Amino acid sequence: MTNFNVIAATDATGLAEPFDARHLIDGRWQASADGATFERASPAHGSLVTRASRGGPQDVEMAISAARTAFDNGTWSQTSGKDRATLLLKVADLIDRERDRIALMETMESGKPISQAKAEIEGAADLWRYAASLARTMHGESHNTLGNDMLGMVLKEPIGVVAIITPWNFPFLIVSQKLPFALAAGCTAVIKPSEMTPATTAILGELVIEAGLPTGVVNIVLGYGDPVGAAMTTDRRVDMVTFTGSTAVGKAIVSAASGTLKKVSLELGGKNPQVIFPDADLDGAADAVVFGVYFNAGECCNSGSRIIVHEDIADDFVGRITALSRKVPFGDPLDPETKVGAIITPEHCAKIDRYVRDAAAGGAEIKLGGGALPVPGLNGQFYQPTVIANVGSQMPIAREEVFGPVLSVLTFRTLDEAIALVNDAEYGLSAGVWSDDVHTCLEFARRAQAGTVWTNTWMDGFAELPFGGVRESGQGRELGRYGLEEFLEAKTVMMRIGRTRTPWVDPQTA
Ligand code: NDP
Repeated sequence: MTNFNVIAATDATGLAEPFDARHLIDGRWQASADGATFERASPAHGSLVTRASRGGPQDVEMAISAARTAFDNGTWSQTSGKDRATLLLKVADLIDRERDRIALMETMESGKPISQAKAEIEGAADLWRYAASLARTMHGESHNTLGNDMLGMVLKEPIGVVAIITPWNFPFLIVSQKLPFALAAGCTAVIKPSEMTPATTAILGELVIEAGLPTGVVNIVLGYGDPVGAAMTTDRRVDMVTFTGSTAVGKAIVSAASGTLKKVSLELGGKNPQVIFPDADLDGAADAVVFGVYFNAGECCNSGSRIIVHEDIADDFVGRITALSRKVPFGDPLDPETKVGAIITPEHCAKIDRYVRDAAAGGAEIKLGGGALPVPGLNGQFYQPTVIANVGSQMPIAREEVFGPVLSVLTFRTLDEAIALVNDAEYGLSAGVWSDDVHTCLEFARRAQAGTVWTNTWMDGFAELPFGGVRESGQGRELGRYGLEEFLEAKTVMMRIGRTRTPWVDPQTA
């Protein structure tokens, strides 16, 4: 019998009553034109959490019209950086004020631990503040070396109407990785959150209205990828789509957006490796590996879901990880001690389990976990912290995004071999190395094909540093000044100085 650190149901009450979420269109909260609704239950508790309007073609049409009109009339796109920054800072303050309310909704809809949800909301407020600083400091270029009679300028202009499509794993954080940057640039937006987590995006809508954002600048349509998301990616009046989610849907969006040649920015999946050398701080590495794979129950694009351990230390290191894994508090997400909560849906829980069963059938060894685990007093779905060794590099569990608390262990002998395993992947989101040798770390950082490389740490993130992936992990970057650039177009202006232009046609010609 495997013992885990299970946190049973707490006395903490969830919500007094379900949240009523509606569309925000042109500054008004609206039910769907056809009156359709859907419901979301807590994946940990089974109780009803949200009743939401279910958007259809008419609702998307109105939201896009509102965003287009608001952009074209310049009420936001032509405001000063100072005014934009003032408003973004106000939203950040309101997010701080509403932290506990937003965090509770996030926990109840997604199943993530309440302590983590609170930290995420604080992180989101920081992104709004950082974007405010960009609103005031963005600038283009001037070229004063084009000759005596010419001055060149590159103006940065907002790209226009942005469609923002977000997933369920970090609903409030991910919309905050996109929306404040789009607003800082001067864009207007139509947002569609995942149908599993609509409430916190609706709360954000309340806050942007309270902060005083002009009508129609931010619109929210709740509902499903089909038809809401699909319409947002094909409508001619939308200039750009920014999406976070699965690689399959990312590809479908690129294809849908190609009809009108919209810009598409994608933050997709990952199968992120950490390479552990024998000279590393193995206690620190083991703790980071456990954090990396169980954070957000592994439902995380940056999940450190595969480790590549030097053969000499593999048994010892796997022993450390399994010992730590048993201690990770998991269970009721409303308990402040809990570090791993519920899995988003029963279907997703079954998908995680299929990966584990298939790996075992293919010869991998389940060292720990490997199944759902009931939590006393709760009727949601939870999956055991799971460690799988003897994983072959071609097995689906080593290559595909499991999106659950499941760690695959591979081994290596030389740096070249480790790098080859790291880069033998369809994904390229992030990668990490653990070694006390700076040369090993630097060589790894240069050769790993990933958007982010961590050395002797894992999953740190800062508003200042860009985030995104290579290959099938996506295109474009979020955060940092690159995150703002995504929402800007460059316009070239060339100005002749004086009446100095040499005529093309000689007027004296007979
Ligand atoms: P999806 O990629 O299906 O969903 C992400 C968002 O896209 C949701 O809002 C969804 O709407 C929307 N969407 C779905 N289809 C379309 C479409 N054709 N056009 C426009 N928008 C669309 O992720 P899932 O929630 O289904 O998760 C499936 C897998 O994706 C996970 O197991 C995981 O592997 C991966 N994933 C990766 C994430 C990441 O951060 N990289 C985040 C989430 C998932 P709706 O679902 O409401 O219908």
